[in-house]
Parts: sequence; structure tokens; C-alpha cells
Amino acid sequence: MKVGILYICTGAYTVFWPDFFQSFQQNFLPGVEKTYYVFTDAERIDHDDDPAVRRIYQKAYDWPYSTLKRFAVFLQAEEELRSCDYLYFANANLLCTAQITPADVLPRPEKGEDLVVACHLGYWHKKPYFLPYDRNPRSRACMPYNAGQVYVAGGFNGGTAQAFLWLCHTLNDRTEADLADGVIARWHDESQLNRLVAEQPRRFRVLDPGYCMPEDVEQPFAPHLLVRQKSKWINVGAIKHNEGPRRSFVRRKWEAACENYLPYLLCARDTLLGKKVKSGQ
Ligand code: UDP
Repeated sequence: MKVGILYICTGAYTVFWPDFFQSFQQNFLPGVEKTYYVFTDAERIDHDDDPAVRRIYQKAYDWPYSTLKRFAVFLQAEEELRSCDYLYFANANLLCTAQITPADVLPRPEKGEDLVVACHLGYWHKKPYFLPYDRNPRSRACMPYNAGQVYVAGGFNGGTAQAFLWLCHTLNDRTEADLADGVIARWHDESQLNRLVAEQPRRFRVLDPGYCMPEDVEQPFAPHLLVRQKSKWINVGAIKHNEGPRRSFVRRKWEAACENYLPYLLCARDTLLGKKVKSGQ
């Protein structure tokens, strides 16, 4: 069995690579042949000369294209990636903090699964109409309020190589079609992924939030993949250009009220309208 790990680190994010590599070598599928496909604009990275590391030049996109365009980035190496049996994408700032075996994370074909995602800790067991899906009808990632079951994190996902490359093609086509219409889904690639999970839920093995678990957060799941707090290492605000003006008190209260109560009404509306999630719509 050969597993390909897809890793993007452009710009400041290369700082996370050495610890990522070390922790994954130690704990992620020990004993399994792994190749790390590292998409980076860095001329050199640690462990460059390790036979398990394949560095692939990738120019640095500005935010949010650095995350949004990930499917296109992977597809540039599609031929090579086809030599793997399984492919997993991991965010740059993950650490594998406990041993993960194939039984823990491979899709289970006997259940019809060929893809794997991890539930987002912040939305574990929340009602679908409170999930932060994209709600903009102009985006291919849009979800009606009466649909969906889980909200998955964009930071760790994978599957059989064949299924994962299909996912990359599907979501890349949708992302590009959105961009051509001048639209970016609410949470970028994560919104596109969540729409696909809602369309074809049986194909996805959904791991618990311990497989994408923010550090320094008390929670009841056994930590396997820890999400390091980026701001301890890099200037996230500058990278994501989110230093806009502070919202007023009244505005913040109004937005919170909308967030807490409006979804009930919108769910009732979409149920009355008989809205459904169909593949490719
Ligand atoms: N990324 C990158 N360079 C950037 C921004 C993002 O390489 O300048 C990649 C990196 O793999 C990162 C992923 O895009 O883990 C998602 O970005 P980020 O973790 O900041 O997004 P979040 O998960 O916080 O939404």
C-alpha cells in the first residue's frame, strides 16, 4: 500500500513543515509507505533529500486563493498521484500527536465509502440550519437551510487515490465556475467540500473532531491530529488582510441575533419550498 500525503506550504506557512513531517513520519500510518508531495514556493525545505519527500514548485497565491485553489494545485501532479493507493490532504499546521492506523482513517469499502473527512469541532452535533455552509445561491457550494447533516473541516481529508482525484476535479470545476461568476464560497474550499459531502454522504467516512482538533481547547475527543494555533508562528491577520474597521456594538448585536434566530425561519422556508441537495446543482 502506498499513501500520498498532499501538503501545501507557500510563503510563511513553510515554518510548519519540519514538525509536521516529523510527527507524521512517527505517528501517521506507521509501517506504511508514504510519499509527501510538498507544494511550495520555497527553494529548499527541511528533509528535501529524504526519499519520502517530493517537493513540487508552487507559486504563492494571495489569500484566499492559497487555500481555494488547492484542488487545481494537486491536479498539476495528477499523473504522479495516480501511482498512490490513497491520498490525504493535511493543512500545513497539523501535528500527528497519536498513532493513527489504517483502520482509523482509511475509507471502508464494505460500507460504500471511498472518501474520508473529519467533523469540525465547532459544529459537532449542531442542527443543520446552524452550520456555516455557504448560503449564497450564486455559489455552487450553496446549501439550503433544511439540508446537510455534518459540517466537516477543510484541514484533513482523503480517500482512495481514484476517488480523491475525482473530488479534486469536481471541486476545482465548481470553484472555477464560481470564480468566472465573480463568486467565492463563504469558507472557500471547505464550503465546496461540505456541499459534496451533503450530496453524496454515503461515500464519506466522517471521522470525529479528534482528527482536526484545535490546540489549547478542552474537548472530549482523543486528540490524533492537532491543529496548531497559527498566530503563535505567523502573522495571520496580515496574510488574510483581515484588519478591517471594528464593527460597532449595535452592529455586532444585530448580527448575533440574526445568526441565532434567522436560521429557524430560513429552514422553515426551505422546507416549505421542498428544497433538496442534488448532485452537481
Ligand atoms: N496556505 C499556504 N500559504 C498561505 C495560506 C494558506 O500554504 O499563505 C495553505 C496551507 O496549507 C494552509 C491551508 O492553505 O494550511 C489553509 O490555510 P489556513 O490554515 O490559513 O486556513 P484555515 O484552515 O485557518 O481556514
